[in-house]
Amino acid sequence: MPQLTITNTLTGQKEKFVPLIDSQVKMYVCGITPYDYAHIGHGRVYVTFDIMYRLLTFLGYQVSYCRNFTDIDDKLLNKAAKEFGDQMRYHEIARRYIDAYHQDMQSLQCLPPTYEPYVTETINEIIVIVQNLIDQGHAYTVNGSVYYSVSSFENYGKLSKQNLDELSAGARVEIDLEKHSPLDFALWKSEENGTFWQSPWGWGRPGWHIECSAMANKFLGAQIDLHAGGQDLTFPHHENEIAQSEGAHNSQFAKYWMHNAFVQINKEKMSKSLGNFFTLKDIFKSYDPMILRYYLACHNYNTPLEFDINELGKLQKSYQRLALALNEVSTTQVTIEQVKSNPVTHKMLQFICDDLNISGLFGVIFENLTQMDLESKQCVKFFLQQIIGLTMLSIEHQLEITPQIQDLIDQRESARAVKNWALADQIREELSSLGLIVQDKK
Ligand SMILES: [Zn+2]
Repeated sequence: MPQLTITNTLTGQKEKFVPLIDSQVKMYVCGITPYDYAHIGHGRVYVTFDIMYRLLTFLGYQVSYCRNFTDIDDKLLNKAAKEFGDQMRYHEIARRYIDAYHQDMQSLQCLPPTYEPYVTETINEIIVIVQNLIDQGHAYTVNGSVYYSVSSFENYGKLSKQNLDELSAGARVEIDLEKHSPLDFALWKSEENGTFWQSPWGWGRPGWHIECSAMANKFLGAQIDLHAGGQDLTFPHHENEIAQSEGAHNSQFAKYWMHNAFVQINKEKMSKSLGNFFTLKDIFKSYDPMILRYYLACHNYNTPLEFDINELGKLQKSYQRLALALNEVSTTQVTIEQVKSNPVTHKMLQFICDDLNISGLFGVIFENLTQMDLESKQCVKFFLQQIIGLTMLSIEHQLEITPQIQDLIDQRESARAVKNWALADQIREELSSLGLIVQDKK
């Protein structure tokens, strides 16, 4: 069996993955703030770590996977105020976008995590950890709010490789009379109007970072094996999670940290504020979700992804080729041992175990596709379905015949009628790029 190695952001090195307890893996991935539809950046994070989850399970680990919902946040409150004229209807905003997110995740074949906690259901645990940090001298209260004292945590900056002096120099000078230092961050925000939660410090609601420390501890324990998320979360979110969890529990929080690189559009970081983003829903209007999953899987997680929607059309062809080649193959008799020992899937495993080099494993498939025996085909299909999470159903069968496609079919029929083979072939290519494979009856 190949040894799984991953690049650990904490050390900056590619390391052998060895969990704290032999056969178990505790894995935490930061979830969404449900105030809008999920976009391609979310797709990248959750597909990447769904594949990690599937791979660890395939390798025989018993995996506990926790992914949260930040269902109370300024963004939700603002949206509820704007939409309903009442910020306290933020629950309705959360419900709408959590439901939509679950649909997107299901379309993308992302497996449900073991735990999917909500902040609003974790308030007691949050209060306990905040009190613990106050008791240990890592946090202080001011006017009913609680702040983490960054200078109290010796290793602050170890994940994002920055020291306190550099961070202080770069910190935005905010006019905030409450905080002792601009780097300090809120664990609990005072809200005097009594509409949120009662705490030892008065009415209020939690800060953002503390929820992940509280939830990881509640569902997985003080020490976990793997913590993951998008690269943009490294600082300050994950750095703050470390300061909170290690400050409270006095032990290493996560042994491995993994971050997927950005999604870029025209060399710019994709973001809502720049307006250059695609929601998953929009993409699914034109492409089967499996094509997007295949696209995301083919671009290794650790390099920035320059998203180009036209590339989905090209990849649809290769996905379709693969689906047709494996179409008649049944996987019901395939065993995990067979997949590990079959020469083709063994090579594929070597690639994926090398820091999720998934583009490499597709290389192996296409090199062997035309000369594979039946057993290899069965093992490859099993691998793609179980570990990469692709259904491998032919897209053709699910393709909706749009007016554009119907028009092309008609044009091609006319071209064939007048024996204009060049034009017919050209249209066939066009149809194929839209996911329709044309086979002419002799
Ligand atoms: Zn988090």
